Amino acid sequence: MPLTPFHAVVPWLPYARWPRAFSFWSLTLGAMVSDVEVLPAWALVGDIHLARGPMHSVFGVLTINAAITVVAVRFLVPPALRWFQRRWPNPGLLRFAGQDLRNDPQDFATIYSSAALGGLTHIIADIPTHTNNPVWWPWQTDPLALVPFADELWWDAMTTVAWLLVFLVVVRAYWRR
Ligand SMILES: [Zn+2]
Repeated sequence: MPLTPFHAVVPWLPYARWPRAFSFWSLTLGAMVSDVEVLPAWALVGDIHLARGPMHSVFGVLTINAAITVVAVRFLVPPALRWFQRRWPNPGLLRFAGQDLRNDPQDFATIYSSAALGGLTHIIADIPTHTNNPVWWPWQTDPLALVPFADELWWDAMTTVAWLLVFLVVVRAYWRR
């Protein structure tokens, strides 16, 4: 499975190509916020393979996930960036694909659309590595299970390593550049 932070690597690719069309922070948080539901759902149903629900659906991504992301990008990211800057003053650390991430767009349309895109990449990226994909919640009867062995350990191990490698390649290509 892609570990939560690795998910951000997918929307970072269109960002690197068309940085002005997106909010970096909104793409990044939008691509990760789905997994907020995993721990409470796991505690509730007792099986991690079933611990994914509305926040892993298209409907959830466009509503609750996007709302959480917009609020976080508007109200949590700016103070977090200020704190980061005081702690590590080197401005090169907040550069990605030629952009200064301190000047990320703040308008609602860009933040919302980036949150939605980031979230959609999360649920698509999860499909090959989970059998419980509630993509069409609340309208689906059975979750999408396109890869029958998606929950098996060997597949999990292989895909986790593959995601790690892609993540490292992309970070090396664009971070601080
Ligand atoms: Zn997920």
